[in-house]
Amino acid sequence: MIDSHCHLNLAPLGTNITEALQLAKQNGIERIMVPGITPESWEVLRQYTKQQYSDILPVDTAIGLHPYFLPSDIGAIPTLIKKLEEAVARAVADAKGGLRSAQGCSPTAQGCSPTAQGCQPTAQGRFCAIGETGLDGHISVDINIQKQVFHAHIALADAYDLPVILHHRKSHHLLFESLKATSFSGRGVVHAFSGSIDIAERYIERGFYLGIGGTITYERAKKTRDTVAHLLRNHTDSILLETDAPDMPMAGRQGQPNMPHYLKDVVTALADISDIEPSEIEALTSANYERLFRPKPF
Ligand SMILES: [Zn+2]
Repeated sequence: MIDSHCHLNLAPLGTNITEALQLAKQNGIERIMVPGITPESWEVLRQYTKQQYSDILPVDTAIGLHPYFLPSDIGAIPTLIKKLEEAVARAVADAKGGLRSAQGCSPTAQGCSPTAQGCQPTAQGRFCAIGETGLDGHISVDINIQKQVFHAHIALADAYDLPVILHHRKSHHLLFESLKATSFSGRGVVHAFSGSIDIAERYIERGFYLGIGGTITYERAKKTRDTVAHLLRNHTDSILLETDAPDMPMAGRQGQPNMPHYLKDVVTALADISDIEPSEIEALTSANYERLFRPKPF
């Protein structure tokens, strides 16, 4: 099982990262993706890709600015976007260096040459996406500020051929508008997807995967459960598992922080609403994760 969206750096997970990773490993998690949320988070996340953590569990990371944490002063935005661009350029350069020194890779002018053994150090976590970014129709940050910052993320994902991690809340129509306006033709994941079959299909047509999390564990979430049942019948190659820990508690675990090792609850719920075995759900969502996030050599 791979947790494709977990905020390991946020309390209480961030205060004992080793324990959170160990618990996850003991409960069958093979890998975790931690999205970036603020400039301060980027350096913290970079540490998670180091060997000491990869020895427990590989942690992949993304660089991004979550809409929740954007300043409301539009004057501060250009500097923030510049910071984002510089951080991504640095991370891409670091990733290139890491690949070149990885076993089986020979450095060339074009970057890394894949060999029969493959080129990527899969045992180690790495920077491999842009996000978390998106649009939120439920917060006080001006939507024009959100759009400006979101479009900067889209441009970076396009420029570096990286997948983008999308946040949505009351904003599917705005996201589609922005994807069209920016002519984004890349790939990505709509994290914590909830919505109709029609909306799900529109994202899939655009090359997006859909992150399925704790919402599905609640029987009352009928619309999302119906949509996900449809995805399990028709689009098993477009879904990912996620916890969004420490947020989005699973059914029966309300009042306590969500943890990556509860990911199995999502698998159980998916098996309940389909005729797919839990082990098959785990295998296919892991393969989907690898396809989306495992980048081609830079
Ligand atoms: Zn998130």
